Amino acid sequence: MQQLTFLSPGKFEWRDVPAPKLAADTDAIVAPVAVARCDLDLYIAIGAAPYPGPFAFGHETVARVVEAGSASGVRPGDLVVVPFQLSCGRCRNCRRGHTNACEAYPFGAAYGLKPTSKTEFGGALSDLMYVPFADHMLVHLPAGIDPVAAASLSDNIADGWRGVAAPLTERPGAAVLVVGGLARSVGLYAAGAAVALGAGRVLYLDDDAGRRAAAEAMGAVSEPLALAEGRQPGEQFEIVVEAAGTVEALGFAVNACAPNGYLAGLSIHFGNKTPMPLTAAYLKGLTFHTSRVHSRATFPEALSCMTCGRFHPERVTSRVVPFAEAGEAMTDPGPKIVFTR
Ligand SMILES: [Zn+2]
Ligand SMILES: [Zn+2]
Repeated sequence: MQQLTFLSPGKFEWRDVPAPKLAADTDAIVAPVAVARCDLDLYIAIGAAPYPGPFAFGHETVARVVEAGSASGVRPGDLVVVPFQLSCGRCRNCRRGHTNACEAYPFGAAYGLKPTSKTEFGGALSDLMYVPFADHMLVHLPAGIDPVAAASLSDNIADGWRGVAAPLTERPGAAVLVVGGLARSVGLYAAGAAVALGAGRVLYLDDDAGRRAAAEAMGAVSEPLALAEGRQPGEQFEIVVEAAGTVEALGFAVNACAPNGYLAGLSIHFGNKTPMPLTAAYLKGLTFHTSRVHSRATFPEALSCMTCGRFHPERVTSRVVPFAEAGEAMTDPGPKIVFTR
């Protein structure tokens, strides 16, 4: 079968590799039908994130089941969402919903991201994917949801949704600020989810006009971030999402948080040296949460938010291109590219 392989910044190659086979009755083999570019994929593709190739690429996908073990919970022909992280559904961490750290796999185990666990699990930009523990991993795509709209649920949609869902449950109707940028689509999904979940006011700040338009299409108010011009927070928000990935944006986010507010860090600060204004955070009593999403555990509620009709992640999709052109389109500025076949 064919598999898109990342070699080095700017270089992809379709390679012929052996097709996966069922190994247990809980396994499934799926054929991706819509694959979304994760925000991280762009930075790997341009060499801004330190992920050395070669490895199979793509990790956000809606797929069709091709082969199914007798205890896999799915049948050939089913349309399913595939979490990007491998998880068993049985271990202590999985039972707690901590599916980003399943004990059955090396830490960081994921499709299309071999460097995070130093283990190759295949990628979504392939003819076929092997899915172990399919009875737990795979979630049926609800009728009426377009695979192109849901492809990014594997990671980025779920990530944006969880950034605001839990704090809004604790603070119903709270005002939400999203500082957008580096995590190009995740910040937009967070803004859209906040609108859908009944936030009182949703302000999206970003210096990119295209992303501001996408945020407004999902019901948020948007303005330029303008940190270079010395912008300071003009008001305080009970919930702040930092998706911009810069030192300055993190400081702005802390300063924009209301006392006892919640700060969700959804961007990756590459280099591991970002200073945090801890004194201000301490004095305000902020709750700061940053982590990779628990992909599989987040699916049910994020999907039900999509079927409610108020959450429109498809409005973030900027381009849909055929599978065969995925390598060339991987460096498109986005925010969200979806590859279909
Ligand atoms: Zn991702
Ligand atoms: Zn597990």
